[in-house]
Amino acid sequence: MRAYQIVEWGKPAQFNEIPIPRPGPGQILVKMAGAGLCHTDISILQSPAGFWPDPPFTIGHENAGRIAELGANVEGFAEGDGVLISSMYWCGHCDKCARGLHEQCRHIGLAGYGVGYDGGLAEYILIEAKHAIALGSLDPVRAAPLADAAATSYHAVKSMLPILVPGSTAVVTGVGGLGAYAVQYLATLSGTRIIALDTSQTRLNEATRLGAHEVYISDGECAEKIRDSTSGGADAVFDFVGTTPTLSTGMAALSQGGRLIVAGIGGGEIPIGWEKIAMNAGFINTRGFNLPDLNEIVSLARDDRIEMAATHFTFDDVESGLRALEDATVEGRAVVTFD
Ligand SMILES: [Zn+2]
Ligand SMILES: [Zn+2]
Repeated sequence: MRAYQIVEWGKPAQFNEIPIPRPGPGQILVKMAGAGLCHTDISILQSPAGFWPDPPFTIGHENAGRIAELGANVEGFAEGDGVLISSMYWCGHCDKCARGLHEQCRHIGLAGYGVGYDGGLAEYILIEAKHAIALGSLDPVRAAPLADAAATSYHAVKSMLPILVPGSTAVVTGVGGLGAYAVQYLATLSGTRIIALDTSQTRLNEATRLGAHEVYISDGECAEKIRDSTSGGADAVFDFVGTTPTLSTGMAALSQGGRLIVAGIGGGEIPIGWEKIAMNAGFINTRGFNLPDLNEIVSLARDDRIEMAATHFTFDDVESGLRALEDATVEGRAVVTFD
């Protein structure tokens, strides 16, 4: 089969002809249908040696397809079933995994499908059955981006739902990819009032369409506008940018007891301490998601309760997809399709 692989750091990825893997006990061979491309792929392709697990490996970590072959001892799945493949490679048996906190797995590292282990930019992918989520009637091509971006955003929002009751306010900073999902989850799952911040008026318009009640261009005055419009601050601020200015705005916009949830890896820093942040407030950095999160967003997508705009590229044309992603000319998520 053909696989798009990184073979050596500092060299462009390339199409290689490799054998179709065979599933061992507890494993599943999946025929790929959709593979979302992501900025992490670009960062992997441009990375120096030493940060990510060493090549060679097939890239692509937002994967969905249909089961081609089941290994021994795999229950609950049948050949032909559509599955989403978790991009997080949890162990499934440590104390955290046992509690459903797969994102905090004791054994999780940077490696996963498409990072160290062979990913989905290939005709087939070999996975552990514990990383497969049944799609039911949901088209795997549509589902692919749920394996990473949409799930990370969902995990952040879900953790705050208990405080996002009617009468509360949530701010979403950065309403491109992950933030646009967050606006939808908040609109669908909570009674909160949603305020969106972004540097792009186009993205703010889209956020309004997806359910934001108020939108502001990000600048130094946003925190004050939010405090004014909420009579004292927001209950939750989701920061999908994570630079020093966005973190400062978020912290200044919090009400007493508010939560600043940071998913953006913008490298910003802010002081935290007594009188530095609102009383009873909290700072949470969030990474990843767990098996319940993935099952829940599959349900939302299957019921058409979230929109998932995508631009498709054929497998042969994966490099155009990566270039378009880098040039920010992709509408919605970039998804590679296979026939
Ligand atoms: Zn990703
Ligand atoms: Zn674990």
